[in-house]
Amino acid sequence: MNYKQQLEVVQGLFVPPDTSMRLDCPFCNGKNTLSVDTMNNNINWYCFHASCSAKGKYQGEKNMNYVNATFKQKEENSETEFIVPDSFKILDSNDKAKKYIHKNNCWEAWSWGRADIKYDVKQDRVVFLIRDNEDPTTFVGAVGRALNSMTYPKWYMYGNKDVPFKCGLEEHKEAIIVEDCASACAVSNILTGVAILGTSLKESHKQYLKQYDKIYVGLDRDATKKSYGIANELKSYGLQNVHVKPLSDDLKYFSTEEIKEMFND
Ligand SMILES: [Zn+2]
Repeated sequence: MNYKQQLEVVQGLFVPPDTSMRLDCPFCNGKNTLSVDTMNNNINWYCFHASCSAKGKYQGEKNMNYVNATFKQKEENSETEFIVPDSFKILDSNDKAKKYIHKNNCWEAWSWGRADIKYDVKQDRVVFLIRDNEDPTTFVGAVGRALNSMTYPKWYMYGNKDVPFKCGLEEHKEAIIVEDCASACAVSNILTGVAILGTSLKESHKQYLKQYDKIYVGLDRDATKKSYGIANELKSYGLQNVHVKPLSDDLKYFSTEEIKEMFND
């Protein structure tokens, strides 16, 4: 099948906009092997079955329909309550999930109830539930980390995509912007971690950060330029006590004791 024929078949699947999902492959009949991603009005498809040639990318136009659909979806999202899917099981139900949170220093945050971590049996992911900024007893979404190298994307957002995942204690006066949820958990006994997940800073992130006296930006070593960009953005937003924290490695690889040392100034 050529590209055009493939595109027609994939479009016929009617995957909704801004969705990333796995389906049974209509080309090779592989069970759940076709990954389709419709972010930003593009369509990307890829089949994980080795002998299947289904693979392609279609760049959609950002027309008014797309704009309306996106904004409409946004409104609905913020109004609709996020319902925790039935496929989210307790962490103890999966060994790989438990191993992940041990290896990435999330165990302490989880066992002390600073983070709500589950296992999504449907997508084979460790999921970090996101609490509402104003009402921490309500969940507005979740972030799932793939436990299998075949699962795409590595990080998947459930529900509201604007509210950041954060982990810390109410008495914290300091916060740090980190790359992912595991790093936010790893620092959470010492200061509050706020995960940006590879995205840029959103309005809700800035709003949330206003409550802290001191804010660090602690992204990966290879994201130093981005760290300074974010620090400048926060300063121009009116937050003055913002510092880039140079890191020798990802924060999720440090223990609470080591993190305590790092921020002991
Ligand atoms: Zn296939």
